[in-house]
Amino acid sequence: MHISDPALTLENTSISYGHVSAISNVSLTLAAGEILALIGPNGAGKSTLLRGIMNQTAKMNGHALAEALDITSMPPHRIVRAGILHVPEGRQVVAPLTVRENLQLAARASRRCPRREVQDEIDRVHELFPPLDRLRDTPAGLLSGGEQQMVAIGRALVARPKVLLLDEPSMGLAPVMVQVIYDFLGAHRDALGGAAVLLAEQNRIALSVADRVAVLSRGQLGFVGPCDSLSDSIMTEAYLGTENHSST
Ligand code: ATP
Repeated sequence: MHISDPALTLENTSISYGHVSAISNVSLTLAAGEILALIGPNGAGKSTLLRGIMNQTAKMNGHALAEALDITSMPPHRIVRAGILHVPEGRQVVAPLTVRENLQLAARASRRCPRREVQDEIDRVHELFPPLDRLRDTPAGLLSGGEQQMVAIGRALVARPKVLLLDEPSMGLAPVMVQVIYDFLGAHRDALGGAAVLLAEQNRIALSVADRVAVLSRGQLGFVGPCDSLSDSIMTEAYLGTENHSST
């Protein structure tokens, strides 16, 4: 599929840990405003690819572009400044700070959120994630895993991303919390402010909110296309087999 004016482009991206290849020749484009599910089994390379985009892995070969800007060799803080925000696995919040302070810190650190709009942004996160409302003054480290995930996503949203890299937001969460996170992604597309989302997950849950899906297996992209074209046999092969489907 050809995307004019993509928000994020990966061209022939490869990443190795020493002599071990983790990502091989991945090319992918994300349109502004689309949610692309990146699914694949344990160890497929999803986290490595997301960290590679942020230049937080060993050297990446190939190219990463944010709109037309080449971010391949940029330091991570400049990539963030270019509007690429990463919510890594494991719900990273600043544990001793309250929910309010976590969100304030992220909004104030962002050049993309004017000072006078910081409070509006924080209020917006509370509207999006109602369970956080009564927890404004609670240290983030005391929250449940699901609540911390909401804070972590909230911290990225207040920075007004152009591209949001979400790494397994469902990991380790109770089903009810997974539902809250996915309800948010499914129902509040406007709250993403037109950001493109690359949503890494191990399983099909990401398909419930995604526009397209890309299947990663052993560091290589297989199927890329509309979610409703992803067959059970492609999934089985990606998770259990060795055969790869060519990209569409
Ligand atoms: P999961 O769903 O389990 O998080 P993943 O798809 O995100 O898996 P990665 O964590 O990116 O996969 O791992 C891809 C491969 O790279 C695996 O073989 C993993 O063992 C290897 N790997 C990841 N991080 C490192 C590292 N820091 N040093 C060496 N090898 C690594």
